[in-house]
Amino acid sequence: MALKVLILGGTTEASALARKVAGDARLAPLLSLAGRTSSPRPQPIPTRVGGFGGIEGLARFLRSEAIDVVVDATHPYADQMSAHAVAACRETGVPLASLARPEWQRAPADRWQVVADTEAAAHALGREPRRVFLSLGRQELHAFARAPQHHYLARLIERPDQTTLPPDLHLMQARGPFDRSAEERLLREERIDVMVSKNAGGAATYAKIEAARALGLPVVMIARPHKPAGVAMADIEACVAWLHGLAPRGV
Ligand code: NAP
Repeated sequence: MALKVLILGGTTEASALARKVAGDARLAPLLSLAGRTSSPRPQPIPTRVGGFGGIEGLARFLRSEAIDVVVDATHPYADQMSAHAVAACRETGVPLASLARPEWQRAPADRWQVVADTEAAAHALGREPRRVFLSLGRQELHAFARAPQHHYLARLIERPDQTTLPPDLHLMQARGPFDRSAEERLLREERIDVMVSKNAGGAATYAKIEAARALGLPVVMIARPHKPAGVAMADIEACVAWLHGLAPRGV
């Protein structure tokens, strides 16, 4: 009997794990996406979309679908989903592994100002009007409405649906990975003075950090939230090896 694995996704790592376990006869994986992106990339394993309905909803789902194990491969800033996974797995006795990509480390030439959240990032831009590159999710743009003196260029996967947005906002729709020379060109052509970023980690979006370094641009870096976790996995290989060592419940 195959091990029923629920993968909490929405990240490059979750998609890579899905590719790795697709066709593995020992595993019966199911990928879960929050549904933030209207046309997510096709996945090689069965996929479900949408929230579970809090801790209780997830616990119910784990029981009704007879899930044997959960792998939390959500984004480092998706702290609510991770907290729910920890609580629901504890409640149901389902093992939980967490795949967390390491943070980017500040290089000597980096000009980072680390702040706690998006509100603090908007404040850190200062009073004088600046040209700001926002590399954040669409749900975070509203915080910059409180600093309307700046010109913003926001790169997003999808257009934002909120009504509260900064007045001088230019939207650019694109999905990574991005390349360093193109990032440098973008920052130069748009005459960007400062970038706002999360410390996402990973290679797919690191080029903008390298480009800011090369151009000597300051980066307002939003610190990672505390993310509750299960058994920490260093990488996908370690995670698959761990899954192979588990037996389906009831066996
Ligand atoms: P979040 O704040 O931690 O979660 C908010 C709610 O969204 C959760 O309580 C849950 O709803 C639902 N949810 C989140 N991830 C889910 C998943 N994989 N499957 C089913 N439901 C999920 O999450 P977020 O920061 O909004 O991120 C949403 C998704 O986008 C995540 O899958 C994350 O990996 C991905 N993502 C996030 C970021 C980021 O910067 N936050 C960046 C890239 C990708 P219920 O309570 O109803 O279960």
